[in-house]
Amino acid sequence: MSTFKTLGLGEALLQAIDAMGFVEPSEVQAKAIPILLEKDTDIVALAQTGTGKTAAFGFPLIEKIDPDSKKTQGLILSPTRELCLQIAQEIKNYSKFIPKLNSVAVYGGASIHDQARDIKRGAQIIVATPGRMQDMINRGLVDISQIGYCVLDEADEMLNMGFYEDITKILSHTPDEKSTWLFSATMPREVATIAKKFMSNPVEITVGSKNSSNKNVTHEYYVVSARDRYPALKRLADANPSIFSVIFCRTKRDTQSIAEKLIEDGYSAAALHGDLSQNQRDLVMKSFRNRQIQMLVATDVAARGIDVNDITHVINYQLPDENETYNHRSGRTGRAGKEGVSIVITTKSDVRKIKSLERTLQTTFEQKTVPTGKEICKIQLFNLAEKIETTEINDEIEEYLPEINSHLEHLSKEELIKKLVTVEFTRFHNYYKKSRDIQAIDANSKGGDYDDNGKSTRFFINIGEKDGYNWMNLKDFLKETLNLGKDSVSRVDVKEKFSFFNTDNDQKEAVLAAFENIIVDGRKVNIEISEGRGGGRGRGDRRGGGGRRNGGGGRGGFRGDRRNGGERKDNYKGNRDKGDRKDRNESGGNGRDRRKRKDRY
Ligand code: AMP
Repeated sequence: MSTFKTLGLGEALLQAIDAMGFVEPSEVQAKAIPILLEKDTDIVALAQTGTGKTAAFGFPLIEKIDPDSKKTQGLILSPTRELCLQIAQEIKNYSKFIPKLNSVAVYGGASIHDQARDIKRGAQIIVATPGRMQDMINRGLVDISQIGYCVLDEADEMLNMGFYEDITKILSHTPDEKSTWLFSATMPREVATIAKKFMSNPVEITVGSKNSSNKNVTHEYYVVSARDRYPALKRLADANPSIFSVIFCRTKRDTQSIAEKLIEDGYSAAALHGDLSQNQRDLVMKSFRNRQIQMLVATDVAARGIDVNDITHVINYQLPDENETYNHRSGRTGRAGKEGVSIVITTKSDVRKIKSLERTLQTTFEQKTVPTGKEICKIQLFNLAEKIETTEINDEIEEYLPEINSHLEHLSKEELIKKLVTVEFTRFHNYYKKSRDIQAIDANSKGGDYDDNGKSTRFFINIGEKDGYNWMNLKDFLKETLNLGKDSVSRVDVKEKFSFFNTDNDQKEAVLAAFENIIVDGRKVNIEISEGRGGGRGRGDRRGGGGRRNGGGGRGGFRGDRRNGGERKDNYKGNRDKGDRKDRNESGGNGRDRRKRKDRY
């Protein structure tokens, strides 16, 4: 087994490594460091984030730098500002005992003049994002004409983000004889092209197999109906009381709305997406790092470069299109030798994507069922017992104890324990007592995603697209007309001349009665119970000649969600800005249009 000393690192670095508490080199470090120390060579290293790759290039780079010269000798390019700052901080930690070695981070969103001033003072190492670096070169604020080493970190991400041109231009300002060290989690064609074009005879090292997943991450998936996605997410969070997670959504709008729902339901959550200002994003990340946020809901782009250790779960609220993107998502957990879980919440129609992921990542995904209310209550109960056992006693309560003791002294130890636990436990218990459990869907069965064992009724209504409706504004109209609760109407499917929707069985009569005398554009609204098992939006509803079908399909949504179960830290609400609200209103059905239509009835 190699040690940092046998890898050939010098005394100052060994001291810093000791101070950081690294005991032995990680695989990528053991493979890359001796090669890079021994000779000036180009290298292509395939390694996931979290494997210790920053030190794999950072340690040898520091060894190669001459701290007595103030010239810029090494340039590290990284895809995001976040990652750039992290690498710069790591380099500072590594060079703690080399006082003359200076590194400067160069990234957008901060004063270019301050960065130029720091470089002018002498920066042997510059860590930069491509956009800002290019800007600095254009303004003549930086000289990289004499560097000996250029590191392209997370090369696949940089190319994904469209930095090819910037990278090419930046490299054209560097000497030909420098060494280029390319680190990438995956090896798509574009990265191979860069390697071919800008590197000569690079040594190749691979940690794990190409495109394979991190071995510390286990993958599991839950097949639910589309309307159960959010309740499933909440249950998974409740079944993991110490969850510290990133939840990935596909769009900014979903990201914002899931975060808002979680906050409303009492979880410590926040959204991270491109519509937030840099300031807002920094604030969210700060709160996440400090663990004030337990559930960070993010888009793929915004979450790039998130380098927070100890993330316990990555949750794919929706699967991404590309398998590579899934690999990046799941790489946010299982870092630095820790174990992590990557969860996929999926509907049956996306199960084939899981099979494809299994092939690409050469790993297996375990299908699991969403925990029942009873299971969650048990988990929470034991979590509470453990918390009581391990809680450090606060001496401040000492002065109140005599009075409290006199209140409680008539209780036996058993009674006291029961009451203490009940105080906390009842909230969860009451909440889950009332909610139905989520049906697991057999990933291999045929048929639609929706089956709630006949708990809801599907209706046909003779208004549709030609009357100016889409599923969102029709849902609003139905809710207003029926005057039922928040999630009372579900599975609204709008066709050209008619539509379908579901409500709970016990609201059947009320729905039929509510539409008895409603007129739209001089036409009487006709509502009937639809026969047969209707599908979700865009599938399964075939209406032939007004025939009656059996009710089926899903009960509307998840109700009575507001509670304060479990221990939650303060919610972060900083990112609910005006822009987002406007966006949601516009896409959630135009409010003014809806009012106009209602006026016509
Ligand atoms: P990276 O892949 O460079 O982003 O590193 C992931 C995390 O692992 C960082 O927080 C590093 O500080 C930590 N780390 C890197 N190398 C080691 C090591 N040899 N032993 C323990 N932790 C390490």
